[in-house]
Amino acid sequence: MGNWTRRGFIGSLSGAAAATAFAAQERSSSPVPAKGKIKITDLKCAIIGRNPVVRIVTDQGISGYGEAESAKPYLKPMVLFYKDYLLGEDPTDVNRILLKIRRMGAFKPWGAAVSAIEIALWDIAGQAAGLPVYKLLGGKIHDRVRPYGNSENNSKLVLRTPQDYAEVASEVKAAKEGYTLIKLPVGFHNDAMMRSIPDAWYGQQWAGRMPPYMDRGMMTQPGIDHVIACVEAAKKVTGAEVGLAFDCGPGWTPKDAIRLARAVEPYDLAWLEDLITGDYAPYPNAQVFKEVTDSTSTRIHTGEEIYLRENFKDLIETQAVNVLGPDPEDVGGIAELKWIAEYANLHGIQVAPHGIFDGLFGVAAQVHLGAVCPQNYIAFEYAKAQPEWWTDIVDGLPDPIVKNGYIDVWDKPGLGITFNVRAAKAHLSEEDRTFFD
Ligand SMILES: [Mg+2]
Repeated sequence: MGNWTRRGFIGSLSGAAAATAFAAQERSSSPVPAKGKIKITDLKCAIIGRNPVVRIVTDQGISGYGEAESAKPYLKPMVLFYKDYLLGEDPTDVNRILLKIRRMGAFKPWGAAVSAIEIALWDIAGQAAGLPVYKLLGGKIHDRVRPYGNSENNSKLVLRTPQDYAEVASEVKAAKEGYTLIKLPVGFHNDAMMRSIPDAWYGQQWAGRMPPYMDRGMMTQPGIDHVIACVEAAKKVTGAEVGLAFDCGPGWTPKDAIRLARAVEPYDLAWLEDLITGDYAPYPNAQVFKEVTDSTSTRIHTGEEIYLRENFKDLIETQAVNVLGPDPEDVGGIAELKWIAEYANLHGIQVAPHGIFDGLFGVAAQVHLGAVCPQNYIAFEYAKAQPEWWTDIVDGLPDPIVKNGYIDVWDKPGLGITFNVRAAKAHLSEEDRTFFD
């Protein structure tokens, strides 16, 4: 634990005074709320590890933090684009600021800057009120939230064959987090698997090129048989006691998607994700999803790349999918995602937020969000500290974070976690060296 807190004034004290102030603050779950009007004085962005981190600075010594996916180290200019729109605003009027800036975001990856700013604003609003963010979002429904495990951050094995799927399913099932739900990549979401047999589909191979997930087209019979065999092998390992979902695309034809979904109906999978669109597809294609969803009892899922509630309207109102998976760091933030979860709940649709690359501040945002979501909430995709030294630069998280498959919702003000600045500074690049100043 360092001697720095979000309340910068403690850092300006010395010796015993600082120790007393710090200890008092550590003991209290409710730091002194902000007095009078609070103003934003600066917006900063640093790339820590690979995650862009947003810091919003105020005139009352409170800073708020938000994070974007580790897959977006190029995001800094987009974050700083919004600086002029934030300066002088009251950060606790989150709605008003979002109304200004949300119009200039877009589907993944370009909604990430707005999303990280939104989360940082809630962090400030919570600290200013002396309340955890979940209280500002309406208060708890859940005392604990369920993270789900993803093979991509729980295993180093490359998934090619049914045997690989059995092995990785076993590894993730045995993880110390005790996941009750896990997700594995198949089909066009896994280049290695699709290339492990010749001619798995009728189409061009885009491997090694960016952006990812560009392969698409009609499956050959050996191709779809291979996908089904891998699903079966994993399911034999997870059994009935651990839920199993598959991230599948995007890029399937509607008929192939229906063939797969029907073939795996006996396995009662948690969901099949992004068969039609997803990841970096800047449109949801609700009508085609609906054709697939209406043709099978297997749950169909999409939503991680979609920005703002308006773009979920068709998917929800036509009941085009069974599960939505927006990412709070792409959709426009946690209040935005809560709105979508509420509207989905009215239409019998479940919610399982995406989040594998969201970082530890993302985990904190997910915990506050999960606490307030209605009863259609399933779980969020857990982000492990990557690189592992991230756990050394963040204070306030429980240790371990996940116990027996759940995270207990914590009560500290704001997001309830913060940087250990002394430790974090060691990981700043020269370009970002003034990030905490
Ligand atoms: Mg996905």
